[in-house]
Amino acid sequence: MKHLDEKILADIQSLIKDAENVLITAHRDGDGDSIGTALAVRDYVSSLDKSAMVLQHGPVPNYLRFLAGSDGIADVSSDSARVPDVAFDLTIALECPNLERTGDVVKFIAPGAPIINIDHHTDNTGYGRVNWVDASASSVGEMVTYLFGRLNFPIEQDNAECLYTAILTDTGRFHYPSATPDTFRHVAKLVASGIDIQQICDRIYFSRRPQSIKLTGLALSQVDYAADGRVCVIPISHEMMKQAHAANGDTEGIVEYTLYGEKVELGALVRDNSEGGVKVSLRSRGAWDVARVAAEFGGGGHLNAAGCILDSTLEAATEIIKSRLLKVLGQ
Ligand code: 5GP
Repeated sequence: MKHLDEKILADIQSLIKDAENVLITAHRDGDGDSIGTALAVRDYVSSLDKSAMVLQHGPVPNYLRFLAGSDGIADVSSDSARVPDVAFDLTIALECPNLERTGDVVKFIAPGAPIINIDHHTDNTGYGRVNWVDASASSVGEMVTYLFGRLNFPIEQDNAECLYTAILTDTGRFHYPSATPDTFRHVAKLVASGIDIQQICDRIYFSRRPQSIKLTGLALSQVDYAADGRVCVIPISHEMMKQAHAANGDTEGIVEYTLYGEKVELGALVRDNSEGGVKVSLRSRGAWDVARVAAEFGGGGHLNAAGCILDSTLEAATEIIKSRLLKVLGQ
């Protein structure tokens, strides 16, 4: 991770100091990094006697509901009545390369009110009054752990759990090369606060609903390998979801199976999206850049983990993505 410039640090502090009602948000359909970090930031802002609220587009997935304070997150896509009738005078946006990624939360961002933009995506458009964008950071969880150190904000156990979750999940359980010696130094501080890392890992990865396991079985029965096993595509159709009695959150983690094969270098989970179209999750090993592939279809992400939505049928999307991944390999 890069050293945080003194000017950016001072600007972050002064914008928070001058605010009364702070909106904290992240990309739609939040994950461990966006939700864990948002909760930690809310704790910091509240500690300064400011009112702080986390709004996101989409529910908190089941596997993150153990995080302290997650029940206070308002899902604006289903329950905007929970949003207080106040004008937020500062927005802190996490993990959003552009403001559209916040989904309907954008409606609560007052025009002209300042935004602190904290992100680790290379394609961040710099939409904030303050832009702290560091693509060398594994996660915004790592950035905020470091920020708290610079601000001398003590990280207590609940917060450490949120930030550890953020880093753990965005590095694919410390699997991606984005987990650097710096990452582990930050994580060491979080672990030293006394968190139970086995329990956190169990809650996130080993507490799946039976419906999710059943869905995984159906999805794996359709696994498709190409290029002598170097490309793996797993489809999930509406029918499979119905057959497994699965809900949206039950697809979580299934994409990781694309990289379980011994020779796989590029993987894709291609699934019918409940809101229409087809959601594509891409994974890669080493230097293969799936963010570039996702960007071609209007999506984004990181070198080894990216995603996009295609406006087509599942069959067509599967073929399009498979042939695009083969092209990446030069085939
Ligand atoms: P996942 O496959 O786990 O949903 O997402 C992997 C990464 O790709 C995350 O960093 C996520 O923010 C990004 N990503 C996933 N879907 C989209 C999308 O539709 N648009 C953009 N811009 N990024 C996405």
